[in-house]
Amino acid sequence: MRPWIGVTASQQIGGGDLPGAWVATEYTDAVLVAGGVPVILPLGEAGAHGAHMWLERLDGLMLTGGVDVDPAFFGEEPGRGLGEVCPERDALETALVEEALLRDLPVLAICRGMQVMNVTAGGTLYQDLASQGKGALQHRQRAPRWHGSHRVELTPGSKIAEILGLNELRVNSFHHQAVRDVAPGMRAVARSADGLVEAIESRRHRFVVGVQWHPEHMWRKNPTHLRLFEAFVRAAGRREPAAD
Ligand code: MN
Repeated sequence: MRPWIGVTASQQIGGGDLPGAWVATEYTDAVLVAGGVPVILPLGEAGAHGAHMWLERLDGLMLTGGVDVDPAFFGEEPGRGLGEVCPERDALETALVEEALLRDLPVLAICRGMQVMNVTAGGTLYQDLASQGKGALQHRQRAPRWHGSHRVELTPGSKIAEILGLNELRVNSFHHQAVRDVAPGMRAVARSADGLVEAIESRRHRFVVGVQWHPEHMWRKNPTHLRLFEAFVRAAGRREPAAD
């Protein structure tokens, strides 16, 4: 049986100005090709009440990219560089992360997803790298989305280094926020040359990994990036927690 993977959606105003759910098919295709069944999790009433209902059935949770995280979640007022926020999405995704961590459900958190996961677990973010004087490299690349524009150094022995079989990797970069303080229980496992945290993973869970880059844009051109989705789906397919 293929594991069922919940994929969070953005709120998108569609035809007739109706709010809807939108997910780039690069995410759902990656889950499918990696062996899972992608299941889109919309906002609206289902999102407001759905975290528990969904996680009772899902085998894994994938948090996707999107708008900024409300700094109220880490005790800050909005800085002038803060972009758009979506309170409904913050509410759903923080509820999903809380319960997924309690259940030790595998989580793959991408870009905004890694930031939401870090904040939910007690960490903080830079609201805006430019106005806070952080991130000397270009983290909002103008190169095509599949292009690895900057390098990250992976922590030897980390899950992500083992999955990829590498000590460093070129990744794409589309973010103006970044992890500042890594949440207790998590650790930074990839950094860019300017010192930003580019990936985190939990010390306590079977598979809880966040990446700041967008592997879903890269795997078709470079199959190395599919390994992350494959390892995630494989972990989701194992219902019993590991013995260690
Ligand atoms: Mn970056």
